[in-house]
Amino acid sequence: MELEGKVSLVTGASRGIGKAIALKLASLGSRVAVNYVAIEASNKADADDVVASIVRTGGEAIAVEADVRNSEAVRAMVDQVAEKWGKIDILVNNAGINRDTLLLRMSDDAWDAVIDTNLRGAFLCTKFAVRHMMRQEWGRVISLSSVVGRVGNAGQCNYAASKGGIIAFTKSVAREMGSRNITVNAVAPGFIVTEMTNKLPAETRDGLLAMIPLQRLGQPEDVAELVAFLAGERAGYITAQVITIDGGAFP
Ligand code: NAP
Repeated sequence: MELEGKVSLVTGASRGIGKAIALKLASLGSRVAVNYVAIEASNKADADDVVASIVRTGGEAIAVEADVRNSEAVRAMVDQVAEKWGKIDILVNNAGINRDTLLLRMSDDAWDAVIDTNLRGAFLCTKFAVRHMMRQEWGRVISLSSVVGRVGNAGQCNYAASKGGIIAFTKSVAREMGSRNITVNAVAPGFIVTEMTNKLPAETRDGLLAMIPLQRLGQPEDVAELVAFLAGERAGYITAQVITIDGGAFP
């Protein structure tokens, strides 16, 4: 129970990688706030299911609604978590979307939606959450980047820019927060099997698989293990890093 007594906030935790991270942090003893956005009624139901799974196994969790693009909503969410449990120790900036197309066909809306969710969302959540971490001089901020943010990808210039932005954001905030004993890191997954990647055509998936030395696609639980390590005491001297988790595809 390495995270006993800790309070974690995981954005976009209703499904996919965020859900796996929420379950993993809870399994290590952390109380977990499971963020979701109420765009569809099913989103709340999914977040409630994650909370129920944690509670069933003896953990503590709450579902917290906020659109990470919205400053006031994020502030209210962070306050809600801090009021409930008195602090925030671990923030996982996981919420993310993609709207893939080639540059010449990309609408302004597709650009803005992806940058706003993936990059502005991480900025807002970090800004409000670190205030609580600074007071206690302990904190962990872990943001989901992507291998695409390191190497680029045709058809994903908006997504790649947002994930490259996460890397630069992480390194900068790590410099600001080091003296407060707050570590700030990013993880850069390759191809992980979730709803986001299920949309890809079978031949694209097969092509990606051929590039992976470990010869399998990643699972959300693979990423959750890495995030949980970075969240714990044992990772206390790791900050400003981007750790790739892609089965060896992009060394
Ligand atoms: P996913 O299955 O599509 O889940 C995305 C999550 O983000 C959902 O819970 C979604 O909530 C939430 N979300 C979207 N917009 C939001 C907003 N405005 N406010 C709050 N939450 C919002 O995606 P995933 O594959 O698990 O990806 C999770 C993260 O890992 C993303 O940042 C993604 O870019 C990154 N990543 C994924 C892969 C991969 O191969 N899957 C690879 C590299 C990086 P709703 O359910 O409420 O819509």
